[in-house]
Amino acid sequence: MLQKTSHFMRQANLIGGEWVAADSGATLDVNNPATGLSIGNVPKSGKAETRRAIEAADAAFESFSKTTANERAKILRTMHDIMLDNQDALAELLTLEQGKPLAESKGEIAIGAAYLMWFAEEGRRVYGDLVPSPWADRRIMVRKEPVGVVAAITPWNFPSSMLARKIGPAIAAGCTSVIKPASQTPYSGLAWGVIAQEAGLPAGAMNIVTGSASEIGGELTRHPAVKKITFTGSTEIGKILLKQSANTVKKVSMELGGNAPFIVFNSADIDRAVEGAIAAKYRNSGQTCVCTNRFYVQSRVYNKFVEKLAEKVEGLKVGPGLEAGTVQGPLIDNNAVEKVEELIADAVGKGGRIVAGGKRHELGHSFFQPTVIADAKHRMRVTKEEIFGPVAPVYKFTKEEDAVRLANDTQYGLACYFYSNDLGQVFRVMEGLKYGLVGVNEGIITTPEAPFGGMKESGLGSEGGRHGIDEYLDTKYVCIGGLGL
Ligand code: ADP
Repeated sequence: MLQKTSHFMRQANLIGGEWVAADSGATLDVNNPATGLSIGNVPKSGKAETRRAIEAADAAFESFSKTTANERAKILRTMHDIMLDNQDALAELLTLEQGKPLAESKGEIAIGAAYLMWFAEEGRRVYGDLVPSPWADRRIMVRKEPVGVVAAITPWNFPSSMLARKIGPAIAAGCTSVIKPASQTPYSGLAWGVIAQEAGLPAGAMNIVTGSASEIGGELTRHPAVKKITFTGSTEIGKILLKQSANTVKKVSMELGGNAPFIVFNSADIDRAVEGAIAAKYRNSGQTCVCTNRFYVQSRVYNKFVEKLAEKVEGLKVGPGLEAGTVQGPLIDNNAVEKVEELIADAVGKGGRIVAGGKRHELGHSFFQPTVIADAKHRMRVTKEEIFGPVAPVYKFTKEEDAVRLANDTQYGLACYFYSNDLGQVFRVMEGLKYGLVGVNEGIITTPEAPFGGMKESGLGSEGGRHGIDEYLDTKYVCIGGLGL
């Protein structure tokens, strides 16, 4: 392990500016998915620690909310610089606990830093309004204010950048926070505490607790001082958090599950579509909420697409994330492998034809062969369920309207992709797809400048873009009367 990695690797929680153990002293083991071996442990905190973290954030809010946007932008810019100066160390820590290839981890650290820079800039442009008044002697002012204490709960698939999208706007807006990283990947979350402290964020303005998800999540959603919940994770847990937050009417943003379709039309550039398919399916071994779940390919190009995709997929190098040349790391754990095996068995039982991969990888642990299943059918489980693994079912369609209808036939509405070189078709299909993110002739589209958020059961609100900071602000209307004008 690099010297620098251990500097960021904290085995404690950050509460009120102090690095502390759980009250009980209990810990949770953290494993490297590439070896199955423990790399350390973190506190198993619960309700009491979470409550103290909320109280620390609430106390810090008093003064932090009164700092200027410029002061907060300076902290965010410093955090950005610390991340990029330590990109290798932070990426190595991420790969150790999460498994993804080092190049992807470096990319994740870079995009996290880019989110911070975006919000450092956006925070200085939180304008209010002076509205023309219907009364001669009154004036109407609208101002934006930070909501207060923000609770951020994040998943293991992007353990660093999912927090950047929440911490960035929270700090920029003048909010303080309590963070709960996923138990599989807590170190990248705890590293945010080191980065924030070194950048001069005041004690208590960011607190991080690890441990029991239901106890911590229960307290975060129940406590009246928490004014906003921002969550990235499954739709199932998102619904629980929404219900729990209802009692205290918290502001919520939810980035939930997806079931992304990827449509290839006859007019598409097939090589470009295959390249996009690799990126949109196999990045992070298929473990992202914007990963393609279903490929719909028009009949004339179906065989060609399947053949080229299978050939490319067979060439993807599977290995430990820290090994040079690896493009496919292990899945997060054995449960993930079992789920993928079940879905493949179901697809094969219903007429699916495996044209690449299909089995556990010879490297053992949670490594899995990148897989392509041709002749996919609507009745297969992969049509409805989020795969979250390196498996690409490819369905055949004939008519454009069928592709759009099938693509929309899901309760999810996060990302979708399609490839076409017919301009009229591009607009028809783009307008017909009920998704929050649409990639046209592109397989990877996330960037801080654009809003990221789902429709339907994929979520509420958006992260990034011009509106990303609004989720952390309240609107106050002030009527100033008796002006005697
Ligand atoms: P995934 O399937 O990607 O792990 P989850 O929705 O299960 O997605 O988990 C995302 C995050 O939500 C993790 O940090 C997890 O610990 C947390 N979580 C899980 N259950 C709860 C809960 N009942 N309350 C609050 N947070 C939870």
